[in-house]
Amino acid sequence: MYDIIIIGCGPAGLTAGLYASRARLKTLLVESFSIPSEAVLTDKIENYPGFPQGISGFELIENFKNQAKYFGSEFTAGNVEKIEAHASDGIKIWKVTVENKTYNSLSIVIATGASPQKLNVPGEEQFKGKGVSYCATCDGALFKDKNIVVVGGGDTAIEESLFLTKFGKKVTIIHRRDRLRAVKILQERVFSNEKIEFIWNSQVLEISGNQKVDAVKLKDVKTQEENKLICDGVFIFIGFIPNTNIFKNIIELDGKGYVIADADMKTSEEGIFACGDCRQKLLRQVVTACGDGATAAFSAQQYVEKLKGMA
Ligand code: NAP
Repeated sequence: MYDIIIIGCGPAGLTAGLYASRARLKTLLVESFSIPSEAVLTDKIENYPGFPQGISGFELIENFKNQAKYFGSEFTAGNVEKIEAHASDGIKIWKVTVENKTYNSLSIVIATGASPQKLNVPGEEQFKGKGVSYCATCDGALFKDKNIVVVGGGDTAIEESLFLTKFGKKVTIIHRRDRLRAVKILQERVFSNEKIEFIWNSQVLEISGNQKVDAVKLKDVKTQEENKLICDGVFIFIGFIPNTNIFKNIIELDGKGYVIADADMKTSEEGIFACGDCRQKLLRQVVTACGDGATAAFSAQQYVEKLKGMA
């Protein structure tokens, strides 16, 4: 019997693990096989306090993981298949099934993050891994001296475009409006980078190619004019969708699927807490995910201690 099972091993989940272990809760973290934390895939994180020169996402997450392990968190890998509530002596026990193995816990923390949103245009699925990518850190090096297209205008699109200039001959950012959503410091950098060009007010209608991507079909949303842009790769960074499908019949989600949790990270179901990017919130950053994780673990601690009559 665990006191707390934390689902997800990004910044939110690992911070929850650190706090729960230090509170001497018996803690299990479940790390997904198939959905890596977005932070791990980030080349350089430069707005997590304490690292003025930035730190690689991989290194930061490894440090978080080692710290949680050091204080006693246990880890298992796999996808959560089922979560069910059972009553035992009037106490609610959660049964969490991971790859056919069931673990019991008094509380659950959901820290499953969010995955890249798809464009949902013809060719996107067909050329995934053949020129279409959602991860510059993973695939950027495959596009050395090539023409790269990036779709999106938020922090991710701009940060990743800057990273892709290390490899590509040219990076063309396609954005559906005439101004970026990204934070100003990233805008300054992107506008002064000679390898980066913009196509404003445009949507990608189709990704085409033969064995690999060789072009995108664009539509100017103001003039309705359609054009073909020759390219070797298309990186899509148009936001995220929360990884919360499995919880939809257990806790309250908003219209976009984000978990609704209060300031103490309590969800609509007693004993289940949520933290990080999977939660409905204003600002999704590593630092806010860590804050959420610490609060979720503390709330779970109070809940578990009350159940055990230790409050
Ligand atoms: P985002 O902020 O939601 O931006 C998504 C971008 O894609 C927007 O520019 C949006 O256009 C565009 N877009 C959305 N749907 C589209 C579609 N169907 N077709 C074409 N374009 C579409 O997502 P994000 O940039 O991935 O960032 C997600 C969160 O992570 C944000 O809170 C962000 O601040 C955070 N983040 C932070 C950092 C950092 O601090 N360094 C780095 C990465 C991400 P519109 O602008 O017209 O809506």
